Amino acid sequence: MATAPRPLVAGNWKMNGLSASAGELEAIIAGAAGIAAEADLMVCPPATLLARFAAIARGAPVLIGAQDCHAEPAGAFTGDISAEMIADCGGQAVIVGHSERRFYHQEDDPAVKAKAMAAMRAGLIAILCIGETKQERDAGATLVRLEKQLQGSLPERLDAASLVIAYEPVWAIGTGVTPGPADVEEVHAFIRQFLTARDPSGGPGIRILYGGSVKPSNARDLLAVRNVNGALVGGASLKAADFLGIAAAYA
Ligand code: PEP
Repeated sequence: MATAPRPLVAGNWKMNGLSASAGELEAIIAGAAGIAAEADLMVCPPATLLARFAAIARGAPVLIGAQDCHAEPAGAFTGDISAEMIADCGGQAVIVGHSERRFYHQEDDPAVKAKAMAAMRAGLIAILCIGETKQERDAGATLVRLEKQLQGSLPERLDAASLVIAYEPVWAIGTGVTPGPADVEEVHAFIRQFLTARDPSGGPGIRILYGGSVKPSNARDLLAVRNVNGALVGGASLKAADFLGIAAAYA
């Protein structure tokens, strides 16, 4: 049997954090020692803190990622940042296709695929988010929706070192509600099957994170589910103690 991929616990700070928040990163780094042997840790601050956080985390067992990138390496795209720029300021990863980007910025699957490929082009890890809405779940269309997102947004090449999938049910993000372990297991098995069918050599090693209202109190149960290879954490990643409390599930 293939060995399970090394887990990853990534924090998505969204549009939160000022210079003073560097203290939280320092506290995460201080607490990372007991976890780093078992799992990767990552913090994804807003773009304004990326270079600063990358400098603080240099040499520490905490990766730094961005929350979005443009698909092009450079050009007349006011306000955007490219994957190459993220790499240039020390970032090692980028989240693409988060449901908030898909909803507020009308990002569709082809746009997300282009961003994932841009991330890989720049040598970054792409954390590609997929997830169904409440209406889709209630209609029994969860797997249909996820299959469509995977078909439309996965990059051409499946490489476990540079691609991570995050399953984030939209209705679980920031709501305090999570799917039950059996539901998470069903979805993660489906994603694993899809990835493996698409690429029998790369697919089995790709990390599939669960995201949506992960907290220290529910992390152990969610992260113990088969084919859950870590978590993408929003609100609870803003406080070092909570973030480390989640990652401690692997300690
Ligand atoms: C997210 O937005 O990626 C997320 C998982 O948020 P939260 O943990 O706050 O539900």
